[in-house]
Amino acid sequence: MTTDLFPPAPVTRFPVAGSQSTFPVRRVYCIGRNYAAHAIEMGADPDKEPPFFFQKSPDTIHFGDFPYPTETSDVHFEIELVVALSKGGSNIPVEVALDHVYGYGIGLDMTRRDLQGEAKKLGRPWEIGKNFDHSAPCTPLRPAAEIGHPTDGAIWLKVNGETRQEGDLNQMIWKTPEMIAILSRYFELMPGDIIMTGTPAGVGPIARGDVMTGHVDGVGDLTVEVI
Ligand code: MN
Repeated sequence: MTTDLFPPAPVTRFPVAGSQSTFPVRRVYCIGRNYAAHAIEMGADPDKEPPFFFQKSPDTIHFGDFPYPTETSDVHFEIELVVALSKGGSNIPVEVALDHVYGYGIGLDMTRRDLQGEAKKLGRPWEIGKNFDHSAPCTPLRPAAEIGHPTDGAIWLKVNGETRQEGDLNQMIWKTPEMIAILSRYFELMPGDIIMTGTPAGVGPIARGDVMTGHVDGVGDLTVEVI
């Protein structure tokens, strides 16, 4: 008989608004440059690029304040619609992709932009720019059974009450069912997988003491303080 040398790391769980149920997280997939105006501000051509993905570790998701990370002096916010899957599969057809969605939340794809920029320049992985501790502050989920599948409506982020990011979910280049279908060709998706669906234009830096407030129509509001 074998025994663990130490207790396994705890599973990250989303609360579900108005429910005792929780959503245990398996993987966190993120799509890059999924709003044309943001792709342009990052110096990319929004027309030519097929979708590309990276991952954050499940334990980057949390529900409190955001501690300013180490080894950076340029940390950016990216507000995103979060899609939570309760059904998995490979080669999922676009037409049935939404059947795999449990619900939606709001998340911040916090980014050490200086380290990401350096990695891009050197052709290195984005890991230290994107997948650092506490890099994905999120809200609890809301079930699609209650709110439906948001396809349009405002998505915005304010810092200390001042609007910084503003867009509409209908500006997503790759829609939620397409992202699920494409991802499922590269990875076998599983219940507990999360997709962060990209951010609208206006990303920028934060400092300790800033309060970020975000909103997605039909999903809710988020408040995160930088500590
Ligand atoms: Mn992002």
